[in-house]
Amino acid sequence: MVAVTRDLSSRLMAGARILVADDDVAVLESVTWLLQENGYEVIPTNGGVACLEQLEHRTPDLLLLDILMPDADGCQLLERIKSEERWRDVPVLMLSAQPPEEASVRSLGLGAADFIRKPYRPKELLARVQVQLRSGAMLRSTRSALARTEEALVRAQQDADSRRTLVDILHEVTGDLSVTELFHLLVRRAARALGVSHCSVVLARPGDEQAVVVAAFENPALQNLTIQLDRYPELQAALNSGQAVLVEDLDSHPLYEGVRHAWGIEGIEVPIRSVIALPFTVDDVQHGVFLVRRTRDQDRFAPQDLEFAQAVITAAVVVIQRARMVEDTMADNARLEQLAQTDPLTQLLNRRALTERIATEMERATRHDASLALLMIDLDHFKKVNDSYGHLVGDDVLRDIGRLLLNTIRGSDIVARYGGEEFVLLLPETDEVGAVSFAERIRTAVEAYEFDRGDDQPALKLTASIGVAVFPAARVDTVEDLFARADSALYRAKADGRNRVRQ
Ligand code: GH3
Ligand code: MG
Ligand code: MG
Repeated sequence: MVAVTRDLSSRLMAGARILVADDDVAVLESVTWLLQENGYEVIPTNGGVACLEQLEHRTPDLLLLDILMPDADGCQLLERIKSEERWRDVPVLMLSAQPPEEASVRSLGLGAADFIRKPYRPKELLARVQVQLRSGAMLRSTRSALARTEEALVRAQQDADSRRTLVDILHEVTGDLSVTELFHLLVRRAARALGVSHCSVVLARPGDEQAVVVAAFENPALQNLTIQLDRYPELQAALNSGQAVLVEDLDSHPLYEGVRHAWGIEGIEVPIRSVIALPFTVDDVQHGVFLVRRTRDQDRFAPQDLEFAQAVITAAVVVIQRARMVEDTMADNARLEQLAQTDPLTQLLNRRALTERIATEMERATRHDASLALLMIDLDHFKKVNDSYGHLVGDDVLRDIGRLLLNTIRGSDIVARYGGEEFVLLLPETDEVGAVSFAERIRTAVEAYEFDRGDDQPALKLTASIGVAVFPAARVDTVEDLFARADSALYRAKADGRNRVRQ
């Protein structure tokens, strides 16, 4: 920035053009002389009319304007100059013998850059001229930079617009489309846009002997037709070279020498005259060729057709990539969501997911005027299992208990691992009586269960204590209330000797 400013001002010092308008010949001459001596190009004009003429003729870098002139009011002239687009950025320095406040306030309000009192002091005048020239130049260069930026923006916007139109054509219905459906859409749209009778997408890798036509405009019903590549030299050439192939006339192109011979022997009349084959790859996974062809009654392809076809396939590849990415992302999201809700040891719902489900179920119960039960199950003296058999056995037991609970519940019930050796069952459409008897069933199932430790070891036995809470109930309004109820019931079950159900 500093370098630019210095460069600008030194350039301005040398040759800036300054228009001076004053009816006082003595002032005009002395100002002209002073400015010329300092390297400026000066155009002296005697009065307002002459000044306007000069302005029309050529726009100066700076205007020194006397306020009081017999043929023009300097302030009116200033107003006029500032109102015109072409002179808007010319700094105007007002010169006047008038009391400075009055004149300067008025002229500055009208857009003057600065004000100099007559009689002027040469040093001050030169300094003010220099400052105004510099800021005028900065203003102009800023404005032109801005204009360039705007142009670039508009261009970028237009480019983006045409690309977007192309992508939109393809994207329109791609939301729910599989990649294969996308190929069908592509050949339809591209055939119409290119005005061709034949347009297809062929999948194959370089070096393959066979290829699969996944979509063809000329045969919409076609699905995955296998073709022999040795009959399609343009496909082979495009695949193996990775370059676009343009065949203006099939009858004379050397690429077809071999197949033309075969067609002759077999008596085949090929209706195609002109071919464009564009190889493409999607994420290094899908390789293929976009093939457009015209018959003998149509115009031959020209290089600009190739360009357009290339633009279409480039946009299409982007869309296909996006479709693939969306598919992958959706699958990832579903996996992550599943992971976020699952307890890794037992594969049951975790506490977070459980809390969400309880809120939903409480709302549902309220809406349908139904009841809901929550069972908090805590294994008795589980620490002893770890202490006696080790943590790994403890983990196996927890997994088994998880399975046992899953096998005991109905379809609409929810099992979660609440933490450590605590599990929660959520039973929709269940009142207190039903919940207590269900809890009792679970308690006896745990009590009866024998955990096989293999190798002739005696089976490991366990018991569980269960706290029951139901909704709706007095002073149970929130998820926390329901938990608190179940928790205190569980505490009572433990306090009363364990291996029992309390509500
Ligand atoms: P209580 O009858 O009073 O419930 O006794 P408890 O020993 O079951 O209860 P406490 O809460 O004192 O101890 C729970 C034990 O559960 C402690 C911890 O080592 C064990 N535990 C918690 N999570 C896991 C786990 O993921 N794997 C294993 N192996 N043990 C766990
Ligand atoms: Mg516990
Ligand atoms: Mg316990």
